[in-house]
Amino acid sequence: MADNPHNAALLSLLGQAREQARFFGELGAESIALDKAAPSPEAVTMPVKDDAPRRPSVPPAREEFMFSARAVQSPKPYVSKSTGPSKDLFKLAAPQPSVAQAREALEDIWRDIGDCTRCGLCEGRTQVVNTHGNRNARLMFIGEAPGADEDAQGKPFVGRAGQLLTKMIEAMGMKREDVIIGNVNRCRPPGNRQPTLEEAAICRPFLFREIAAIKPEVIVVMGNTALRNLLEVREGISRVRGQFRDFRGIKVMPTFHPAYLLRDPSKKRETWEDLKKVIEYLESTPAKSKS
Ligand code: SF4
Repeated sequence: MADNPHNAALLSLLGQAREQARFFGELGAESIALDKAAPSPEAVTMPVKDDAPRRPSVPPAREEFMFSARAVQSPKPYVSKSTGPSKDLFKLAAPQPSVAQAREALEDIWRDIGDCTRCGLCEGRTQVVNTHGNRNARLMFIGEAPGADEDAQGKPFVGRAGQLLTKMIEAMGMKREDVIIGNVNRCRPPGNRQPTLEEAAICRPFLFREIAAIKPEVIVVMGNTALRNLLEVREGISRVRGQFRDFRGIKVMPTFHPAYLLRDPSKKRETWEDLKKVIEYLESTPAKSKS
């Protein structure tokens, strides 16, 4: 049967469907699909009312962007310090304009980042890993920092945790190309350790500028590092997950990091509960004009 190319394609599709069903089962997502709380891709990406401004259709080549992270401008050199982390690292970030006021283009931000040497993580990286995805996205995911696969490929969330994130996005009724994904730090920490407070505080203003340029309507922060750098909360992710917060007028949903879900799959159900709230918000809210 598999010798016939049509049958082989059918078998491949069946295999993919089986795998997706298994993943939905792990999430406990069957009931969502049945009661239609999980939207179609169109419902998630374009839930506009008749009188709401419609997002212009963007050719795929423009929606999917990838950019070189190599040097464009002369970055400030990293100078190793022995002074230890600042007592108030949040003050290291320069004041940012509100999201509504921001007019900066992503290309300007990436040009500014260039071949960045502003913190010590530059010493062990292969390349800077900038935010990647659909710049018109309503939904943004933010994690901690690149790992080995991301460092090698120059894109965020392409390793095992990234594959799980892709499944989570698809379980939400979207494609990975519909969303945009970034990290607090854009260079791989040695040994995949957590970025220090100082490293995160030096790098995150770039993320804030990207958020202001992209203007997502919902941000899913994944794990403690993303949570604490975006929302400046002291509680851990287990306490605050599942509750919408605010970042400069943008709804933020904290949830577990996919890498943590790989270590503890029992947390997938809680994560899915959090993602359902995001789906419900996007479904019930007309898409905002980004102009
Ligand atoms: S982690 Fe961020 S601040 Fe540090 S070197 Fe990389 S891009 Fe620059």
